[in-house]
Amino acid sequence: MKRAVVLGAGGFIGSHLVKRLKSEGYWVRGVDLKWPEYSDTQADDFIIGDLRHLAVVENAIETGLDEVYQLAADMGGAGYIFTGDNDAQVMHNSGLINLHVVHECAKKKVGKVFYSSSACVYPERNQMDPDNPRCEESSVYPAAPDSEYGWEKLFSERLYFSFSRNQGLDVRVARFHNIYGPEGAWNNGKEKAPAAICRKVAEASEGGKVEIWGDGKQTRSFLFIDDCLDAVRTFVNSDFAGPVNIGSEEMIAINDFVHLIADVSQKKVEITNIEGPTGVRGRSSDNRLIEEKIGWSPKINLREGISRTYAWVNGKVEEAKTA
Ligand code: NAD
Repeated sequence: MKRAVVLGAGGFIGSHLVKRLKSEGYWVRGVDLKWPEYSDTQADDFIIGDLRHLAVVENAIETGLDEVYQLAADMGGAGYIFTGDNDAQVMHNSGLINLHVVHECAKKKVGKVFYSSSACVYPERNQMDPDNPRCEESSVYPAAPDSEYGWEKLFSERLYFSFSRNQGLDVRVARFHNIYGPEGAWNNGKEKAPAAICRKVAEASEGGKVEIWGDGKQTRSFLFIDDCLDAVRTFVNSDFAGPVNIGSEEMIAINDFVHLIADVSQKKVEITNIEGPTGVRGRSSDNRLIEEKIGWSPKINLREGISRTYAWVNGKVEEAKTA
């Protein structure tokens, strides 16, 4: 039986990844500051611990592990990352986690290490035109991410690759682009656009107002969680180390995204564009490399993924009303 450790297993992607690995027959240990919030973990072993502390990392990563998935990070949506208020915390917390984890994985000779980087590594200069963002993997240098969160991710990518070169660690580095789906943050200040807009639409009355940060012309693409997990597993099983984008190329302007969600909810809503942190003007995944190297492309389109996500968020909104 293969043995894997998922760091950040109490979070959105980590908790889904644990389920996925279990369904593939793995023995799985999860580690996080917290339990998954929306369903019980399926991990065989779950350590509640702070990965900024070396002793916790030493305990979590043992010799003989086949795979470690490093998803733990101090992160959130635009309200958390782009205001600047959490910069020191984000860099310090995630930096410490990655420094400890990579060192321990090399020391314990873990089979493979997956590191989740982000589309936030890409330079702002290539993402000023909402209709034509440039996010191919090689465009990351000269580096100019638009947030400290992105800078930390880029540093950590290099950290994992340096351990690969100097200490023979077998690494896989992927840059996630806006992963969404059920059982993610939806109302705690760390939610991202898909869950936040689903919540606003679910809370709105028929014809009601939905507030959107910025002019709503900024574009993004969003990848459904099941597609993300397929990509991660195919990537880890391949011989390609990355860095590689894991995202969708189905780009949409945020105001149109609100209309799509309203349509799925069968409600009419009115958009009010207000000032707020928005990040770059345009961003979408470029999937040419991942298609070429491992033959993966998304299967679930935005409407389908949003239908499933809206149903879940709407359920949470209804639960909250009766609580
Ligand atoms: P998440 O916030 O739901 O999960 C991260 C988990 O890490 C949380 O459960 C958190 O408690 C845990 N964590 C943070 N600090 C910790 C610490 N000191 N010790 C132990 N656990 C700690 O985020 P997610 O959406 O599941 O993202 C997973 C990874 O993917 C993150 O590294 C994130 O930066 C990256 N990523 C995600 C997206 C996305 O769209 N969701 C996009 C780009 C990159």
